Amino acid sequence: MNKGQKVPVLVIGAGIAGIEASLLLANSGRNVYLVERTSYIGGNVIKFEEVFPNMDCATCMVAPKQQELLANENIKLLMLSQVEAISGSFGDFSVKIKKRARYVDLENCIGCSACFDPCPVEVDNEFEEGLSKRKAIYIPCAGALPNVPAIDTENCLRFKGQECQACQEACIFEAVDFTQQDEELELKVEAIVVATGFKSFDLSKTTQYGYKKFSDVYSAMEIERICASNGPTQGQIFLQSGESPKSVAIIHCVGREEKGYCSSICCMASLKLSHFFKKKLPEVKITQFYSDLCIPGKAYQKFYEEVKESKVDFIRARVTEVSQSGKELAIKYKTEDGKESTLTVDMVILNPALEPRADSAKLAELLNIPQDKDGFFSEKEPDLTSVATIQEGIFIAGCAQGPKDIAETVAEAEAAAGAILSLSR
Ligand code: SF4
Ligand code: SF4
Repeated sequence: MNKGQKVPVLVIGAGIAGIEASLLLANSGRNVYLVERTSYIGGNVIKFEEVFPNMDCATCMVAPKQQELLANENIKLLMLSQVEAISGSFGDFSVKIKKRARYVDLENCIGCSACFDPCPVEVDNEFEEGLSKRKAIYIPCAGALPNVPAIDTENCLRFKGQECQACQEACIFEAVDFTQQDEELELKVEAIVVATGFKSFDLSKTTQYGYKKFSDVYSAMEIERICASNGPTQGQIFLQSGESPKSVAIIHCVGREEKGYCSSICCMASLKLSHFFKKKLPEVKITQFYSDLCIPGKAYQKFYEEVKESKVDFIRARVTEVSQSGKELAIKYKTEDGKESTLTVDMVILNPALEPRADSAKLAELLNIPQDKDGFFSEKEPDLTSVATIQEGIFIAGCAQGPKDIAETVAEAEAAAGAILSLSR
């Protein structure tokens, strides 16, 4: 660090919130350490083909920011990394980071993928929600950035003590490097932005919807990947039989009762899926089962009206059971007046509640900031600011604080970066 230069800022999480906060800080002349636990940047947003309410192309929206981030000399990106310890206070935090080796040289690799085929290992690709396979040396999906694979040491034969160097032999750029080591880094930072995002409610905790029991029952995230042009079916929507679905039910709020809160964006996400299906399969019949519709703001209302006009049915009811009925799925539901009915469809999509990430409690302890009753990081004064915490110099942005849409997430990232810049004056 040059004399007179300010102490860097730490941003935890390289999803859309972390990217936005890092760029704002870096473009204001601040050095940033951006810590990301995975081997790629972009978080959940890069799983989507389009984003509501304008159905903008998600990649077109995020890729320029990702490229700008990778090219920004003020940002030191630490991938495959996690915060292990934090001490100190605003202006003088000490942070220990554990950085796992990638085993592929970021400088030498050109992302040609020639090393993938020779790898004898095949495991479920978690980025694709297990809908496709990947190798032990892999990039999670086409277009993921940086376009450099990582070796998954849990599944790589070499790291299980077996003789294998097929990927290294296939790489003419000598980019596969088994001599890389995990590192422990000690950073000094002035302030911290926590942008760790969310995870979806675990649908395997439900039994009534037939998830993982019936092959044409999907989670919303699985369908997002199926709809994605860089996903496992290149955007083609098929039933397990290979035919296109003629009727689809989308069930909102799965897990809402268990969680006890509205995740606020699932209704719009369900409308988006309807819109997408209608674009791909204009004749498909879509029924949405909801308990409450959360569609705030004029842009969202307009989108809802458009979806309704495309002949999507909305039923306010509680779905009590999904069962197999021949080749179809039978949905039993109960409306508010207590009337029970059944609808048969080809495909069911479950839209789950959003939850805090599983490691939130550990990070909250390290940061010495509270979580709310649902496990999200708590802001200092919920009625006044959604980004400041009780610890001066530690800010939260995006879904780490609670479920929210992309526009709100970006606004919070900007607010967190702005607060740090104003505190540092
Ligand atoms: S490691 Fe080598 S073979 Fe694999 S993608 Fe990079 S350059 Fe291509
Ligand atoms: S060493 Fe073998 S098993 Fe491991 S990533 Fe390379 S090819 Fe795959």
